[in-house]
Amino acid sequence: MCFFDQQRFVCGDWKWGHFRQHCHKEYRIGETCGMKLIMHTVPVGQKCKLCEKIDTKKRRRAAEVERINRWQREGSKFRASIDKSMEIIRSLDYEIQELECERGRRLQGIGTQMRS
Ligand SMILES: [Zn+2]
Repeated sequence: MCFFDQQRFVCGDWKWGHFRQHCHKEYRIGETCGMKLIMHTVPVGQKCKLCEKIDTKKRRRAAEVERINRWQREGSKFRASIDKSMEIIRSLDYEIQELECERGRRLQGIGTQMRS
């Protein structure tokens, strides 16, 4: 078992950081045994890349919803714009769902990072 830092993001996700120390099973230079243990947890003052991507898409979606609300108050003259905006929201919903699934898979995958 070799020791690594753990970088913990404000969203609760984390990733492996710097390699710190070999264990007694592994003495070759530059090699690690594949079983990772946490040495220190280093807080990172931001969200992970994936959550940032999700946030960006959610902000984009909120902006589209806001636009639709504004157009609807104007009556029927923005019908085509509203339809287009609805389309954008649908695809954003799909992308957000995909990213959240990916995040779920990543959370499950952690802890089983054994080298074969
Ligand atoms: Zn995250």
